[in-house]
Amino acid sequence: MQTSLFDNTENAFKLKSDSELERAYFLFKMISKEPLVRIGTAATRFALNANLPVEGLIRSTVFDHFCGGVNEEDCMTSVDKLYSANVCSVLDYSVEGKEEEASFDECMNKVIGLVEFADEKDAMPIVVFKPTGVGRFAIWQKLTEGTALTSEEQVEWERIKERMHGICKIAKERDVEVLIDGEESWMQDAADDMVAELMATYNKEKPIVYNTLQCYRHDRLEYLKKLHLEARARDFKIGMKIVRGAYMEKENKRAKEKGYPTPICKDKRATDENFNATMRYIFENINDISLFLGTHNEDSSLLAVKLMGEMGIAKDDNRVWFGQLYGMSDHISFNLSLEGYNVAKYLPFGPVKDVMPYLIRRAEENTSVAGQTNRELELIKAERKRRRL
Ligand SMILES: Cc1cc2nc3c(=O)[nH]c(=O)nc-3n(C[C@H](O)[C@H](O)[C@H](O)COP(=O)(O)OP(=O)(O)OC[C@H]3O[C@@H](n4cnc5c(N)ncnc54)[C@H](O)[C@@H]3O)c2cc1C
Repeated sequence: MQTSLFDNTENAFKLKSDSELERAYFLFKMISKEPLVRIGTAATRFALNANLPVEGLIRSTVFDHFCGGVNEEDCMTSVDKLYSANVCSVLDYSVEGKEEEASFDECMNKVIGLVEFADEKDAMPIVVFKPTGVGRFAIWQKLTEGTALTSEEQVEWERIKERMHGICKIAKERDVEVLIDGEESWMQDAADDMVAELMATYNKEKPIVYNTLQCYRHDRLEYLKKLHLEARARDFKIGMKIVRGAYMEKENKRAKEKGYPTPICKDKRATDENFNATMRYIFENINDISLFLGTHNEDSSLLAVKLMGEMGIAKDDNRVWFGQLYGMSDHISFNLSLEGYNVAKYLPFGPVKDVMPYLIRRAEENTSVAGQTNRELELIKAERKRRRL
């Protein structure tokens, strides 16, 4: 594996003070131990539900490492710091699992607020939201399964569409790009149809709206090719974030329980191949499809760099963005930005208790992907040594 581009730890951790580096070392060492994460997440859930005073502890450890703050203003210190290294921020209101209409409206208002804010701040050219942030999971699922909605649900669905159009319309007016996250496969078809409609409406001249392809699903490249034909026929541009996918265990478990073939690739290698093939297809069609490459995988990031070079796509071409999550893979983000590529970090924010599902996913992801955590640890250790900590 050629990793030289990402081996510069001095640059990777230049924004971290010694004490922040020590915290990262401690955190990733803990996270690498799977039983500890399982016990830790259960204990944390219990403590928060029982209103035990653990917020302070969570805040000063995992929360501050992986999140920008409890609200937008809180995030500005991190936004400015990242931008000083030419890394942009995608503020991600990471409150998950809320199912009331008021929360959906609040999410829409937050994202619209961020669009308005992004319009004035170069450091934040992109916003993001989840389909289930603006509408009930069950509605998305029913539509995906082709089940008829009740008349009340039909009203709810109209409101969901209004929220999504509300965000994208303002985003187009302000020329801010909107990423729409991918979620579980049993609700995703309805989201895909909705996002294709948004693209057809707002992506006429350039991509404003981006959907997400989860390449751990073996059918995604085929879906992209179909959408590409539709985009040509209806004359709109495609915006696509590509990721591997965050719900693998849940997907496999449900498929097994319900007795249908899993939509997930047969192994990690097949996912990697699918991801890289999808990326290649997009680069080959860059005039029609813009790319947000959401990954912490070094090989895929290096392949993107190589393909861009071979195809004569400029490093700072605004149709190509590299994205990592805040608190992870700084060696990829900061070394790519140093080279002149467009890089953005997802910067999650929200009240500590509400952001817990997001944080738990990050902790679990880092245990199930042993290689990645080891790599983070190895780099942190190298930097500690360099600084003689
Ligand atoms: C900026 C950004 C935005 C994101 N947005 C989303 C989103 O909208 N929706 C979403 O679902 N996720 C999202 N993710 C998370 C992403 O899907 C991955 O979970 C995470 O990034 C790890 O994958 P990787 O490419 O970084 O690296 P790697 O560590 O190389 O890959 C790990 C991934 O490979 C896949 N995998 C692992 N083992 C197997 C196996 N045995 N068989 C098949 N596949 C396997 C899984 O998807 C696993 O997460 C986002 C990530 C980033 C960085």
